Amino acid sequence: MVMNIILLGPPGAGKGTQSGLLVTGHGMRQLSTGDMLRAAVKAQTPVGLRAKAVMEAGELVSDEIVSDLIDAELAAMGAETGAIFDGYPRTQAQAVALDDILAKHGRQLDHVIELTVDEDALVERITGRFTCGTCGEGYHDRFKQPAVEGTCDKCGGHEFKRRADDNEETVRTRMAEYRAKTAPILPYYDERKLVSRVDGMADIALVTTAIEKVLRG
Ligand code: ADP
Ligand code: ADP
Ligand code: ZN
Repeated sequence: MVMNIILLGPPGAGKGTQSGLLVTGHGMRQLSTGDMLRAAVKAQTPVGLRAKAVMEAGELVSDEIVSDLIDAELAAMGAETGAIFDGYPRTQAQAVALDDILAKHGRQLDHVIELTVDEDALVERITGRFTCGTCGEGYHDRFKQPAVEGTCDKCGGHEFKRRADDNEETVRTRMAEYRAKTAPILPYYDERKLVSRVDGMADIALVTTAIEKVLRG
C-alpha cells in the first residue's frame, strides 16, 4: 500500500532522523523542504537566493516557494512510492495547499504523526546536531555518535558539517515560529482523525517502533 504521511514537530523533534529510518525500512521517500531549500541555497538558484537570509534568521520561507518545491518533487516521483513529509506543511496555507497537491497527484494523506518533545531538550538536540557531509546521515554529539569516531556509519565518509542556523538564538526563533504557525494546524488534521501523537523524548529506536505501530494501524 502506498502511504503518505506527515511528520510534525518542532525543530529537533527527530523528524529527519525518523524519516531516514522509515525510508530504509519501508521504501518510502523523504520529502524535506528544509533539505530542498538548503540545496537551493548551496546551488544559488533564484529560490535559494530568496530563502537564504530568511533561513538564517530562523523565520519561515514563503508558502508559495515550499509548496512549489513539494509539487515538483511529487510530480517527479513514481506513483508506487510513498511519501514522508518532513518539515512541511508548516502553516495553515501550506496544509491547504498540500491537500490540493496530493489530490492532483492522485494521493491521499494516511497519517499525521506529531512528535512531542519538551522544549528544553530541543536546544540541546539542535546545538549538538551534525550530519555526514557526503551522504547526509544525521548524528548528535551526545545522543548518536558514529560507531567509529570521525567515520560515517552509513557511507564511511570522514567529513561532517553543522547547519548555520543550528545555534541557540536561531533555535529560539524557530521554536516560536513553530508555536505560532505550525502547531495551530494540528486541529485541521485532528478533525479528520489523522493525528497520532508519539513521544519524541524516548530513545531513537523506540520512537521508530511507536511510529511503525501507527503505520500498521
Ligand atoms: P528543522 O527540522 O530543524 O526545523 P528544517 O530543516 O525543516 O529545520 O528547516 C530549516 C529552515 O528552512 C526553517 O527554519 C525555515 O526557514 C525553512 N523551511 C523549511 N521548511 C519550510 C516550510 N515548510 N515553510 C517555510 N519555511 C521552511
Ligand atoms: P528535526 O528533523 O525534527 O529537526 P533531527 O532528526 O535532525 O530533528 O534530530 C535533531 C538532533 O537530535 C539530531 O542530532 C539527532 O541525532 C538527535 N535526535 C533525534 N531523535 C532523538 C531522540 N529520540 N533522542 C535523542 N536524540 C535524538
Ligand atoms: Zn555518510
